[in-house]
Amino acid sequence: MTQRGLLIVLSGPSGVGKGTVRKAIFEEEGIDFQYSISATTRQPRVGEVDGEDYFFVSHEAFEEKISNGDMLEYAQYVNNYYGTPKSFIDETLASGRDVFLEIDVQGALQVKSKMPEGVYIFLTPPNLTNLRERLIGRGTDSQEIIEKRVTAARDELKQMINYDYAVENDRVVYAVDRIKAIITAERLRVTRVFEKTL
Ligand code: 5GP
Repeated sequence: MTQRGLLIVLSGPSGVGKGTVRKAIFEEEGIDFQYSISATTRQPRVGEVDGEDYFFVSHEAFEEKISNGDMLEYAQYVNNYYGTPKSFIDETLASGRDVFLEIDVQGALQVKSKMPEGVYIFLTPPNLTNLRERLIGRGTDSQEIIEKRVTAARDELKQMINYDYAVENDRVVYAVDRIKAIITAERLRVTRVFEKTL
């Protein structure tokens, strides 16, 4: 019987650098994870590619996917939907391949309630001032949206307690090293190695 793949969920407040850290992890050798591409109704940013960064869909199409049960989880964030297509996760894990999800806090908690066997990593900013500066520096959001994101982040930080690991994103290279250490440890759990060895 094929051993089920490992599910890693990287989450944390918006602007903390999840996307940057995730991209840096995928550039490392030996990562060997399948990345789950989310669907969203927000407009593509400059340089974003449909089917690579996100599946960009209309509000109507997204709502249809929700009612068909095609979303493992979804969240509404600053007037847009974001969600994880379910079939990709189910099929990939069943085939024994490991899956990496990078999603917001609301979504991660929904996934955890359905898939408690996953490994949940909370990426945390050094502090909220640093988070606001990052959002301003990114230059993609208006002042109003930035303040909404910072307010959301303040609440989301309290959810850290529901995760397995907390990783500070003081510098991307450090965060990547810490996450790689978690992945290595999780892949070496006796329960996983034992099943595979027998
Ligand atoms: P952005 O608009 O900056 O790309 O993403 C906004 C927020 O949505 C980020 O916190 C990002 O991690 C989150 N996000 C991206 N994909 C998903 C998803 O599939 N589900 C959920 N719940 N959040 C997502």
